[in-house]
Amino acid sequence: MTWVAVTSRALLLITVVAFVGALYGYPQEAVILVLLGICGFSYHQMRRVQLWLRTPEKMPPDAFGPWGEVLSRMYFLQRNSQEAQAQLQVTVDYLQDSFAAMRDGVVMVDTNGCIKWLNRSLEPLLGLHCPEDTGQMLTNLVRAPEFNRYFLAMDYSAPLQYLASAGDNPLYLRVEITPFGEGERILFVRDVTKAVLMEKMRREFVANVSHELRTPLTVISGYLGSILTDTKAFPEHYLKALKQMGQQAERMENLLNDLLWLSRIESEQHISVHESIDVRGLFNELRDDLVESHPNSILVLNIATDKTIFGDYRQLYSAVSNLVINAIKYSPEGTPVTLSWILQGHKLCLQVSDHGLGIDASHIPRLTERFYRVDDSRSSATGGTGLGLAIVKHVAAANHGQLNIESILGEGSTFTLVFRARG
Ligand code: ADP
Repeated sequence: MTWVAVTSRALLLITVVAFVGALYGYPQEAVILVLLGICGFSYHQMRRVQLWLRTPEKMPPDAFGPWGEVLSRMYFLQRNSQEAQAQLQVTVDYLQDSFAAMRDGVVMVDTNGCIKWLNRSLEPLLGLHCPEDTGQMLTNLVRAPEFNRYFLAMDYSAPLQYLASAGDNPLYLRVEITPFGEGERILFVRDVTKAVLMEKMRREFVANVSHELRTPLTVISGYLGSILTDTKAFPEHYLKALKQMGQQAERMENLLNDLLWLSRIESEQHISVHESIDVRGLFNELRDDLVESHPNSILVLNIATDKTIFGDYRQLYSAVSNLVINAIKYSPEGTPVTLSWILQGHKLCLQVSDHGLGIDASHIPRLTERFYRVDDSRSSATGGTGLGLAIVKHVAAANHGQLNIESILGEGSTFTLVFRARG
């Protein structure tokens, strides 16, 4: 029954009682009595609602008029919310079950860094106990400084990989953190020891082979060098072959040197770098060196900022020198190459630009792969090893930077090493 129907019934009742009361000479008393009756009835209904609200899981009591409607509406809303809650719980349980079954360690932390939930796979990785450690501060339980630094820095754009325990059975972990909700974070921790050791073995193998090959090659080049100093001693057809052998031996030496340098940069990647680099000095040193090796080159220096970066001087010198030599190699002779040091917002850019052959866009994503060449004939004519840009990319990563490549075929290229500016 609606409120309008109830109100009109109540008014009708009051009018009838007032009329009857008037017939007997007590109209006011009769009305007061009716009003008291209505109040008493309403109070009784309200009390029933109040009692039911204490145990809302029970069916609501039968109630008269609008009270009945209020009760059934409340019951309906409450049932709906119970159902939604149950559904939510099923989803949460399902997610937790799937995280619990994962081989990777998973831990969820709240805004303050306290553990909300963790799975058992995390126990051997971070040394936590499931579920006893729930509620504890994660950084109080994990003792590795690299982990805590990464966790507290709040910059999770790249995953963290670190040596969690050294010795005969080393343990390398990879940690990825994803923020969610209102400041909560979920951490995935994976044991990557096998992959790291395999990669180390590959690096060591390449370094050892390169090293072993260098000794006989040095002897061969040495003899060839001394043989070729006396060209008159050999007939012309031998001389041509000997010269070619000399060239190829030099190429192989360059290749071995690049391979050794690359494996050294890779193995130094996790060593912290803290040398302040004088970029102006580096540019000047490179220009002086090029006068001897590439006397016809034109190098334009554009130093637009005095800001410095922290890094490894030898590595950065080799990267910039690789880029500049490429720019000279792949440009018509006499074309200037510009070397710039500029501040762009919060980024410091070390740029090498040329107006040379340029590179088709389809090759750019693969340029930094080892031995990738745009055109074999182009590279072999210039004596390239195909390792130059791989070295540059690794140097950039080892010095907390990034290599960007822009190029237009036939117009020229710009290679940029981007670093984050400090202060
Ligand atoms: P390479 O020793 O063959 O020069 P790099 O790794 O240094 O090897 O370069 C890979 C390829 O990228 C080169 O073979 C060349 O085709 C192309 N390349 C590099 N730098 C330039 C440039 N400045 N202009 C045009 N092509 C370039």
